[in-house]
Amino acid sequence: MEIQTHLPSLVRVLGQVAIIVYAYSWVARTIERGVLKSVAIGLLFGVGGILSMGDPIRWMPGVFQDGRSILLVLVPIYGGLVGTLVAAAMMGVFRFLVGGMGAVGGVAGILIVATAGYLLTLLPRQWVGTGWKRSALFGVATMTSLIVLIFLPWSVAHQLLVTAALPVSIVNILGVMLLSDLLQREQYRIGIQRALENEASVDPLTKLPNRRVLQREGDRCSKEAGTRRIPFSIIMLDIDHFKKINDSWGHSFGDTVLARVADVIRQTVRKSDIAARYGGEEIVVLLPNTDVRAAGFVAEKIRRDIEATTLMFEQDEVHVTVSVGIACSHEPADDFKHVLEAADKALYRAKAGGRNRVELAEAA
Ligand code: GH3
Ligand code: MG
Ligand code: MG
Repeated sequence: MEIQTHLPSLVRVLGQVAIIVYAYSWVARTIERGVLKSVAIGLLFGVGGILSMGDPIRWMPGVFQDGRSILLVLVPIYGGLVGTLVAAAMMGVFRFLVGGMGAVGGVAGILIVATAGYLLTLLPRQWVGTGWKRSALFGVATMTSLIVLIFLPWSVAHQLLVTAALPVSIVNILGVMLLSDLLQREQYRIGIQRALENEASVDPLTKLPNRRVLQREGDRCSKEAGTRRIPFSIIMLDIDHFKKINDSWGHSFGDTVLARVADVIRQTVRKSDIAARYGGEEIVVLLPNTDVRAAGFVAEKIRRDIEATTLMFEQDEVHVTVSVGIACSHEPADDFKHVLEAADKALYRAKAGGRNRVELAEAA
């Protein structure tokens, strides 16, 4: 076996690995979780396996190797059961359509390796280990594909076992270790990036987006409102006499009240609206594509829902109310800052007018 004759093939395989890692990274960043992610990963590994089957390494006459086992054994880790089924079905159908003497054995091998990989993901963590030991175990699991040799006449099977089993297994094990290391690094990197983004944009107490996100979305919204001539509205609300809540029942209960008010608002607004924690006990809702009338209905519903909410502090029933100011962009489109100022003025009037009420900004 002259290594230099196989070098170009091995380099091609590395190229395929790079493509799979980049594509995986894209899928993992774009689709956060759920069945859709599993299907996408299944499709990705399936396509990778099919491409690899079309471009095998020819170790010697009659002995081919491709990356299907490497991908099949790893797909359960990243794509779960659904992803495994998708990838195995794609590769299995492809192998069946290619036909030839090894078709049945090929399809059987695909199903066996996918099953072995899936079963490994079901084992407890302390058995499988972590890091390179786990990768090596998944690599060894690709050897289950050797079972398909029983489909061949004994003399051929024996010959293949002696000549091909070792190099094929070594390449599979090293391939699994390389690919899983790269995928794990990518998964870790994406996890850290998500956590940092989350930390920089979400208020930990209310789980609402923070002021920075509001500013960014507000600017985007006013730009869009300017070009498409669609109004946007802002609802600014502030909890009434919140100091008294803190003074009577403690700061920690004050935090609970604030989080609960945020929950009520979250339940009332649309997915496209952005409710953000603006200040201490002030929350601002940005409503894209919404005129002042529609914003008024939303604000009134929020006010009523909060008023109807009962919180318990030991035996005490605690009720809170909010005062609300609303403003809407006017033509030519106001910028976000002006609409926010107008909502703030309206909120001030709601406070001055007796609290627990909604006030509209005066027309400019
Ligand atoms: P009103 O708005 O009706 O005029 O009266 P208020 O008592 O709510 O007004 P003020 O703005 O003077 O007080 C707000 C209080 O909110 C002061 C501050 O201690 C409290 N606060 C701000 N942020 C938090 C928080 O995260 N947790 C708790 N528990 N209290 C907070
Ligand atoms: Mg207040
Ligand atoms: Mg306040």
